[in-house]
Amino acid sequence: MGLALQASSRVFALHIRCSNCLKESVQEIFGGQSGPSDVEELIESGLIGQVRYSCVHCESAIGQLVAITEGEME
Ligand SMILES: [Zn+2]
Repeated sequence: MGLALQASSRVFALHIRCSNCLKESVQEIFGGQSGPSDVEELIESGLIGQVRYSCVHCESAIGQLVAITEGEME
């Protein structure tokens, strides 16, 4: 992939349930070096509003955010 090592790059996974077929899918947000460092900051940053959701099962654009998990890129 050719990615340079970066200190404390966070990756967040948005778990979104489709309003149409009710299946859950996961969309990842990469915080980056100057990005949010935890879920609370992610919500405050407004990055979630920029995510274009499209259900992988039925391509519906309407979904409900059910959970956010965070991890660290290594
Ligand atoms: Zn769907």
